[in-house]
Amino acid sequence: MPIANGDLRSSVPRQNNTPEDFTRALDILKNEYPERDGIDIHTLTDSEKHGGLTYNDFLVLPGYIGFPASAVSLDTPITKRITLKTPFISSPMDTVTEHSMAIHMALLGGLGVIHHNCSAEEQAEMVRKVKRFENGFILDPVVISPTTTVAEAKALKEKWGFGGFPVTEDGTLRSKLVGIITPRDIQFHGAHSDPVTKVMSTDLVTARQGITLQEANDILSKSKKGKLPIVDESNNLIALLSRSDLMKNLHYPLASKLPHSKQLIAAAAIGTRPDDKSRLQTLVDAGLDIVILDSSQGNSMYQIEMIKYVKEKYPALDVIGGNVVTREQAAALIAAGVDGLRIGMGSGSACITQEVMAVGRPQAASVFSVSSFAARFGVPCIADGGIQNVGHIVKGLALGASTVMMGGLLAGTTESPGQYFVSREGQLVKAYRGMGSIDAMEDKKAGGPAGKDAKAQNAGTARYFSEGDRLLVAQGVSGSVLDRGSVTKFVPYLMAGVQHSLQDIGVQSVKELKSGVMEGSVRFELRTVSAQAEGNVHGLHSFDKKLYS
Ligand code: GDP
Ligand code: 5GP
Repeated sequence: MPIANGDLRSSVPRQNNTPEDFTRALDILKNEYPERDGIDIHTLTDSEKHGGLTYNDFLVLPGYIGFPASAVSLDTPITKRITLKTPFISSPMDTVTEHSMAIHMALLGGLGVIHHNCSAEEQAEMVRKVKRFENGFILDPVVISPTTTVAEAKALKEKWGFGGFPVTEDGTLRSKLVGIITPRDIQFHGAHSDPVTKVMSTDLVTARQGITLQEANDILSKSKKGKLPIVDESNNLIALLSRSDLMKNLHYPLASKLPHSKQLIAAAAIGTRPDDKSRLQTLVDAGLDIVILDSSQGNSMYQIEMIKYVKEKYPALDVIGGNVVTREQAAALIAAGVDGLRIGMGSGSACITQEVMAVGRPQAASVFSVSSFAARFGVPCIADGGIQNVGHIVKGLALGASTVMMGGLLAGTTESPGQYFVSREGQLVKAYRGMGSIDAMEDKKAGGPAGKDAKAQNAGTARYFSEGDRLLVAQGVSGSVLDRGSVTKFVPYLMAGVQHSLQDIGVQSVKELKSGVMEGSVRFELRTVSAQAEGNVHGLHSFDKKLYS
């Protein structure tokens, strides 16, 4: 090509592409490139060729964008029976998920799995808080009697987190309604020993038993009241409706609820020891919907026995087994009857299992191997551990997982347990520790986080140690993570990020992503070490990595 005087442009006069060129491009593509660009999932995950991969070792290739990112559906199953609107699950770790995280994850369309490093009663109390957080008709409202004092009503508000209590003649449901007490009635009432009858409201708007939820909501929204008691023909209290539930419904349209239920889905973890059976009964009594059997190596006689026990004793409860990283482990738990599987061994950010035990598997290899097998039985899988960013979430889903479980990524949010503190470097951080760290295991033996409750008789769940162990072998570390603000901002960021990513890939839903991967229309590329360096920020003197605003 002649190039004169340093002019780098071609000397051939520029011509516009003709319609024939377009057809030719498509023809050439069709006739001369029978395979799509990139590699398919089977070539990508061929570990004989290039070893077991993890998330950073590959990329998904872009497809065609013919729709807005907001049109991408993230609906996805967590168990055979339950589908969520977003694929985000918070891990059952004592520095990640207690009731506040579980409530907010569920409000935002995901799920928080309540940890079991506490007594069964404490864990059940958290399950109750999740179930009580949002309602349609509250069929078992907390009711007080005319002799209840202002001090007692304040204590009840402290305990339950709400302070609107109907007052009935004998202080129970199905007794005559005489008034209602609200937080404002008692807030500044100094005479603590006064009975609530002195301050309660008696000009009540009520609705009659038999009314539909829609009709009752209409009455409530037109009235200026915060609560609508539902009564029978003799004015006995039957149920309660709360205005704040109308607002929650409006603000959290993706909230995870079972069909026909207005309550949030509650999930919690337990171990597989005999004690865990009584713990499970306590949790089921509190309203548990999904139980996760929490083992670092799930393919054990104890877990198989537990799965069978749960399926037989609690047919309405969904059980997720794990953790597994191979098809053989998965097959054993599927045969025992699991409704979902949790995948990952040694990929967590606070985890040293692979180093200490020499056992585990790179996470991308585990997720593909187990999910592609479990899919044949309709068993959804959770990709658990190693999620550091939106890209990892998308890769976990592309490899076949239905949801992803996060520990470290959520531990720095306002909704995780514990207080923020300032690190030695002057940054705002929160504690995050592996459940197999010495700290966490010693707390288990002592009866809960920081031995906080000596009455926790049956605390001490053995994910990483056995009862008779004389020496604790750590499989995790204790550390801290940076402040991430509230999950009410962070999870919507993850959601928007995943939607944009799926738009780039050219698929309009998680379901389409997974079918595209298996059919071979969604393609991949392996990344060399230098490609990974290129894909990260490079060559800048300094930069600020602000992820969303
Ligand atoms: P309150 O005005 O202090 O009662 O609190 P809000 O109206 O702001 O919130 C009450 C929330 O707690 C609603 O979402 C209710 O569905 C929920 N809740 C669950 N059980 C009960 C109950 O027994 N009584 C009341 N008042 N609310 C309940
Ligand atoms: P992360 O999201 O922080 O990368 O990983 C969270 C996951 O790590 C948890 O859901 C759990 O499966 C796993 N995990 C938590 N604590 C430990 C531990 O002490 N050791 C190991 N091996 N894994 C852990």
